[in-house]
Amino acid sequence: MQVHGRPIDDQTRCVHYHSELDVVAIKFKCCGELYLCHLCHEELAGHVAEQWSLDEYDEPAILCGVCGTMLTIAEYLGSGDHCPHCAAAFNPGCRLHTQFYFETAGDACEADGGSVK
Ligand SMILES: [Zn+2]
Ligand SMILES: [Zn+2]
Ligand SMILES: [Zn+2]
Repeated sequence: MQVHGRPIDDQTRCVHYHSELDVVAIKFKCCGELYLCHLCHEELAGHVAEQWSLDEYDEPAILCGVCGTMLTIAEYLGSGDHCPHCAAAFNPGCRLHTQFYFETAGDACEADGGSVK
């Protein structure tokens, strides 16, 4: 499966987000393509990102970069920050940035701290 972006390793870390825990890639609604992060999409896709809507949470849109399993948005958000398949730890800060990828129920963080995906 091809993942677009600017990778620095083979576990979906990229030049923007590359901590121990940054091991997911996201399939974007706008193009159906996997990108390492929203900044990779912004720099390389050439179009504005669209977010998955609340009724599309059963869409397999999250790739675990460790085991290569596609998770649905609901599985990812309910995962407790671990891959349900291989138990790799996910970055809990990712959920602060879900508004780049999915519509959320309302309490999305507005500010971009810049250090977590
Ligand atoms: Zn796109
Ligand atoms: Zn990136
Ligand atoms: Zn996994």
